[in-house]
Amino acid sequence: MAPPAQAARVFVITGPSGVGKGTLIGLLRERIPELALSVSATTRAPRAGERDGVDYWFLGDDDFADRVESGDFAEWAEYSGRRYGTLKSELARHTAEGRPVVLEIEVQGARQIRESLPGAVQIFISPPSEDALRKRLTGRGTDEPAEVERRLQVATDELAAAGEFEHRVVNDDLAAAVSALERIVTGTLTA
Ligand code: 5GP
Repeated sequence: MAPPAQAARVFVITGPSGVGKGTLIGLLRERIPELALSVSATTRAPRAGERDGVDYWFLGDDDFADRVESGDFAEWAEYSGRRYGTLKSELARHTAEGRPVVLEIEVQGARQIRESLPGAVQIFISPPSEDALRKRLTGRGTDEPAEVERRLQVATDELAAAGEFEHRVVNDDLAAAVSALERIVTGTLTA
């Protein structure tokens, strides 16, 4: 039996921190403007330039916990000591408009979506090498050295999970990686 249409229009893009998920999604959305982005909730502090409701919904620990308790999340996970989650209301907002929606989430959350929305299309982004990932995480300058180390430790487990994913894209050449994503997304939307 075909999965429900709504589930088929959810795209999960996962992979380790620093692999370029955000950049790829930004470029993908330039090519497929109807593709909506789910704004996640998090308990981590905003980075310079990040805006509430645009980059994330920035929530306090208690607020996030209350929303977990109320069943407001489609998935959520703890990552590097902070919580991140996809609000069901974010998904509903876009799918109600009939728009396909992309989730940029880490691997534990992607696994939860695999269970709850089996029709969602799951894409894993890999770095060309672990060394390239280290260089990107260090070079982007958004995280302190200790945080970069934590993220690299988590990345080792995340990279080991790549084989679980239906689609895999290596972010070596940016333009080639965006084109690969575009083929996956348009292939699904026109199927
Ligand atoms: P960052 O702190 O760099 O913005 O995000 C850290 C990690 O959390 C990244 O791998 C990012 O993709 C992931 N993340 C962002 N939003 C969500 C979410 O809603 N759920 C889950 N499970 N992970 C998320």
